[in-house]
Amino acid sequence: MLGLNRPELSQLMEEMGEAPFRAQQLLDAVYRQKVESVDQISTLSQELRAKLAEKNVSVGFPRIDKRFVSQDGTVRYLIEFSDGQSVETVWMPEGDGGESGDGTEAGESSAMRSTARQWDRATICISSQVGCAVDCQFCLTALLGVKRNLTAGEIVGQVCAVLKDQKVSPPQDRINLVFMGMGEPFLNYDNFIKAVRLLVEEVGVAESRMTVSTAGIVPRIHDFGQEPVRPKLAISLNASNDRQRTELMPLNRKWNLEKLMAAAREFPLRNRERITFEYVLLHGVNDSSDNAREVAELLRGMRAKVNLIALNPGPGIRFSTPEEERVAAFQQTLIKAGIPAFVRRPRGRDIYAACGQLKRTVEIASAPVS
Ligand code: SF4
Repeated sequence: MLGLNRPELSQLMEEMGEAPFRAQQLLDAVYRQKVESVDQISTLSQELRAKLAEKNVSVGFPRIDKRFVSQDGTVRYLIEFSDGQSVETVWMPEGDGGESGDGTEAGESSAMRSTARQWDRATICISSQVGCAVDCQFCLTALLGVKRNLTAGEIVGQVCAVLKDQKVSPPQDRINLVFMGMGEPFLNYDNFIKAVRLLVEEVGVAESRMTVSTAGIVPRIHDFGQEPVRPKLAISLNASNDRQRTELMPLNRKWNLEKLMAAAREFPLRNRERITFEYVLLHGVNDSSDNAREVAELLRGMRAKVNLIALNPGPGIRFSTPEEERVAAFQQTLIKAGIPAFVRRPRGRDIYAACGQLKRTVEIASAPVS
């Protein structure tokens, strides 16, 4: 049932000869109470529960296979679905620091030193595919290739599993969602959009608290702009010219910077909304002041901001992390050009939970990475 919306659950109840109000009971049980099996839906009669079981209708709640807890409070979950495939989902108390952009190191704040709950907001980073086909050269997830798309229920299921494990529920608790985990959401567009609607309408997370990041699937950026319910848009830029971007992100051959920036400029922004451009800084590759000036030129006149991420290193990745001074100089060049620019704190690097590090490390840590 996870992944079914109101009309679909209503239809299921109708087909089973049940009253329409049963659909509301199912929605409450699945998305608000986050039950893990039909047996736990106490609002239903024994008879109806038995009928559901007979029809092989289950909740489809994913299983938390493993948890890795970072010293900075970040938790990386390995979440397994019914076919045995799994993805990673990351819980970050206090958000990821991108908003404050203060450059403080993960784990510095006193709130995080205590194990008692002291955060006032948290961010969940969600996966949209098992693996990823986009092949960004600095990303560990890319080494997996793509195994399959996640269903809408599997995307929502990650959120439900983490909320339940952390014993929180929106909207009472301030929860942000970022579709920035494993996979390219715009290559699994329909399931991603269906999941967004369920998260807004049934789980209770406001669309203004969600951000989706795309590597630049241009036709879907256009579609996304037309959605009546949508998260904020982030574009993973990572290079300041086509030659460099094609090297780092092969999809740039298909949708180059001219096409990407045209789509970004045409994107219909809401009041006070900005497009975020993510930029992973790689030592000696894309982190020079010339690169920063080219980025400023690309974004001139746009309602945009830039999130800078110093590379989170990993086995099998041939790039290295730039020094702090270089990151700061890059940021200053953008700010001087009038572009808000923030340095994102790395979160959970010690447990491979940071950006670009998501990969089933438990499964492959011992295997040599080619
Ligand atoms: S950075 Fe994102 S789009 Fe690129 S390979 Fe990694 S998961 Fe895929």
